[in-house]
Amino acid sequence: MADCIFCKIASGEIPSTMVYEDDMVAAFKDLEPQAPTHVLIIPKKHVVSAAELGDGDRELAAHIFCDVVPKLAKELKLSKGFRVVTNAGEDGGQTVMHLHFHLLGGRSMQWPPG
Ligand code: AMP
Ligand code: ZN
Repeated sequence: MADCIFCKIASGEIPSTMVYEDDMVAAFKDLEPQAPTHVLIIPKKHVVSAAELGDGDRELAAHIFCDVVPKLAKELKLSKGFRVVTNAGEDGGQTVMHLHFHLLGGRSMQWPPG
């Protein structure tokens, strides 16, 4: 999608520190890390948020959670644990309107989030 920063990262038009990529998803380091490890996992196709996911996205969602998250958690050595978060919409605190999953680790997380 034109003017979407994460579409541009997925296509390579904007540089990022990519940690994983395949035909469906890309994962890259967050510019403003909130934990020692902070990676964003995004679908390469433009999806606004988790609120827009539907029937056609089952393979994508399963791939992210069944393949990419455990693979990255292992590769990034998050054996003590990690958190996966997606912010959706205004109340969710979403600032980039392209679906992304924050993978955070390397420190103890607080609950509830602010
Ligand atoms: P959210 O608030 O859930 O929409 O998160 C957006 C995240 O994208 C924030 O953690 C930002 O630091 C991150 N971010 C924004 N632009 C970039 C970029 N060009 N490269 C990497 N991370 C980015
Ligand atoms: Zn996009």
